[in-house]
Amino acid sequence: MAGAVGHDPYEETEDQLALRELARSVAIRVVEPSAAQGDQTGEPPLAAAQAMAQADLLRVTIGEEWGGFGYGDVEASIVLEEIARADVSTAIWCQLTFNGPPRGIEHLGPPAMKERWLPAVASGEALLSIGITEPDAGSAVQDMRTSLTDTGNGTYLLNGYKNYSTLGHAAHGILVWCRWPGGSGARGIGAVLIEMDRPGVALTGVHHSMGVHAATEAEIAFEDVQIAADDVLIAGQPEDTSAFKLLLSHLNHERCGNASMCIGAAQGSLEYATRYLNERVIGGRALADLQGLQWKLAEMAIELDGARLLLRRAVHLAGAGGTPPAMETAMAKTAANRAAKHVCDEAIQLLGGYGYSREYPVERVYRDIRGLCIGAGTIEAQLNYIGSNVARGRTSNSPGWIPQNFT
Ligand SMILES: Cc1cc2nc3c(=O)[nH]c(=O)nc-3n(C[C@H](O)[C@H](O)[C@H](O)COP(=O)(O)OP(=O)(O)OC[C@H]3O[C@@H](n4cnc5c(N)ncnc54)[C@H](O)[C@@H]3O)c2cc1C
Repeated sequence: MAGAVGHDPYEETEDQLALRELARSVAIRVVEPSAAQGDQTGEPPLAAAQAMAQADLLRVTIGEEWGGFGYGDVEASIVLEEIARADVSTAIWCQLTFNGPPRGIEHLGPPAMKERWLPAVASGEALLSIGITEPDAGSAVQDMRTSLTDTGNGTYLLNGYKNYSTLGHAAHGILVWCRWPGGSGARGIGAVLIEMDRPGVALTGVHHSMGVHAATEAEIAFEDVQIAADDVLIAGQPEDTSAFKLLLSHLNHERCGNASMCIGAAQGSLEYATRYLNERVIGGRALADLQGLQWKLAEMAIELDGARLLLRRAVHLAGAGGTPPAMETAMAKTAANRAAKHVCDEAIQLLGGYGYSREYPVERVYRDIRGLCIGAGTIEAQLNYIGSNVARGRTSNSPGWIPQNFT
């Protein structure tokens, strides 16, 4: 009888495999050797970013017109997986470049903004961070206070405070979600993009977090910052929520990138633990021969590949130049966050006391992926979205679901 003769619908093309190979080689040669040091010092991964730029890896998603390769979410996901397998902090640099502000700039920004930022981001000369979260507006982002006031001469003044801007202290510019005059709640929220050295922008601190030490979050204050028309990514409409919804839909790129990093990082920990179990001999037997531990490896592998398949579906559905759909993205992010938490936790357990030691990378990876379960929308926020849709009969794109319409 013939074995499996079908094909994997998510099989990677020759170009995608070559991209994976390139990212893996940079990860092994440059990223992995500096990961522990970045974790200890908290220094942003500038050398690794330079190496990725030299290998043209930062050009992946930027359009060809702007010096990029114009690839989509599938290719972004491949590179993020490979870099995160070596170091999550360095992968976050790629994440901001692939799935952060440049996506919005390319889709929505005025020509001058594209000209100003996209070639510089593609070449690795510029990094852009994201300012959405505020002390009183995290999951409830529509409660944000950062706002614009109209000067009456076609410009605005930006005032407010963002307290969780990943790598804001290393960035050259920041995307700031803010409220246009006259809006309230989700109405009137839009976004501007400004240089970090513009008068009125002040870096007020960086976080000392549990993980991703080399790509930690910054706090940034805005005081009477002049905003011109070319700084506006998308204007908030005081009477409706359309701009806010468009901005939210762009977060689906970021969520798929977040899931990719979780999967890559957890894959690295699973492989590390597997090698360890094969090398560690107790009572004359390698630990890898113990069925009880093999079952752990089985659970880890199943969860990881399950999450990976959900992610592949979401990024393939995005298509060239499109955006990953919200439902499939929320499912993929939730599954990847949970798989990474479980896999990275078990990897520590499988190494025993050594897994708990900073001498071994699984300890760092566990701390790093923990934050990814909160950033880009918490697991609970994803569950809220999925649950509220399923409860009304709205489903994923799987033909196995019979769509219903409970309003
Ligand atoms: C590593 C990391 C990087 C980040 N990077 C950025 C960045 O670059 N830019 C940026 O703007 N922000 C960033 N954030 C902030 C992140 O987006 C917020 O932390 C997140 O949205 C949650 O907001 P909060 O911290 O205010 O928690 P809260 O919104 O106060 O939530 C607290 C808890 O309550 C739960 N919760 C809240 N509302 C509900 C609800 N309605 N139903 C069920 N549960 C609920 C949450 O899931 C969470 O568990 C980052 C965060 C982390 C950890």
